[in-house]
Amino acid sequence: MIINQVLINICFIIVCISLSTQASMSKTSVLNTSMRFCLLSSVLNGLLGIVLIMNRVTVTTDAFLDFRYIALVLSASNLGLIWTLLTGVIMAVYHLVHEGMNLTGVVETLAILVAAAGCGLLARTVKIKWKLWLAAVPWCIVVVLLTQLLIQRNDDVALSGSVIQAGGFIVVARLVYFYVNFMSELNVHYHSYREDSLKDHRTGLNNVRQFDERFKQIASRLAEFDGIITMLFIDIDFFKRINDRYGHQNGDIVLEELGKILISSCSHRDIVSRNGGEEFSVVMTDCPRDKIMTVAERIRTAVENYSFRLYERQIIHITVSIGVATYPDSVRDINKLLEAADAAMYEAKRSGRNKVVLAKPQQSALGKPQVNYDWSVENS
Ligand code: GH3
Ligand code: MG
Ligand code: MG
Repeated sequence: MIINQVLINICFIIVCISLSTQASMSKTSVLNTSMRFCLLSSVLNGLLGIVLIMNRVTVTTDAFLDFRYIALVLSASNLGLIWTLLTGVIMAVYHLVHEGMNLTGVVETLAILVAAAGCGLLARTVKIKWKLWLAAVPWCIVVVLLTQLLIQRNDDVALSGSVIQAGGFIVVARLVYFYVNFMSELNVHYHSYREDSLKDHRTGLNNVRQFDERFKQIASRLAEFDGIITMLFIDIDFFKRINDRYGHQNGDIVLEELGKILISSCSHRDIVSRNGGEEFSVVMTDCPRDKIMTVAERIRTAVENYSFRLYERQIIHITVSIGVATYPDSVRDINKLLEAADAAMYEAKRSGRNKVVLAKPQQSALGKPQVNYDWSVENS
């Protein structure tokens, strides 16, 4: 039955779009159209084109429903000129090998290349997706009509075949367009929710979930880091007083600004996170031993010297206490690093605040490393 065969073609198209979307979801960002993704999608669309050629629907002896050009429109709308040409070449090579060097084979192969070139050029010039579809679909229909006129000896047969072909193509292209739009919206939402689930909404830093994830990655790939791994645990001093005196909203401004100070004081390779209310951390995997305290001090003084401007334009100053722990110096078990840095931070609080305290290793009688503290680094 014709309708069944048409539905089978639509299913092939939907499978291809779903696979492409899945590949796109595994990218780090929806805007990141990496070469590998484009190549994969383009080849996938080429294979779709081949499957659609193989499954064209016979309506009468001279009229067919053939959706092969949907593969080209998909490449044009998602990937651009070069990748649409690649999709076209894959389909053309298959078609020529399959049909052979007879008139129909050569004309239809050339038609695929012409359709691909047209769709690709449209992709380069028309940047709005629905307009691109609105231009690419008629272009494919013109190619179908010209192909029929060249292949069929009888113009009437060619014309009626083209009308059937065009009608089916428009209906299916419209359905596919809806599905593509739906999937691309889904993709955009997926990326934005994914981003939201990993970032702290107030500061834009890693949230505690992402911190855990990144830290686990480091812990599982310890052999790759030849230097030491450092954890700075940072807590705002007397933050509750700021909330009490200036209000929660102003407290939030302080948190946001502190996030910016941390980012600007650290290297882009450092993992800067907000671990909870007014607690932050920085994990460094490539900081040499002799620079660790310099970095921590740099953060402490940057915060101390920064003028925080509140909603009512008051300027306030805050300080932070920082605990520093390193692997393998402070702890032998990487999973104890946060605990050690946190304990060092509490020691900084206990001994006066606005300080950097380094957790130092201590070997217990049983040979089990424990943490104690070096009070030598204090605030100026
Ligand atoms: P200490 O020097 O001992 O760290 O004192 P502290 O006041 O900073 O610490 P405490 O734990 O007593 O208070 C932390 C405060 O942080 C209490 C809470 O209201 C505030 N806080 C936590 N999360 C947020 C937030 O998202 N926004 C604002 N404005 N305040 C927050
Ligand atoms: Mg705290
Ligand atoms: Mg605090």
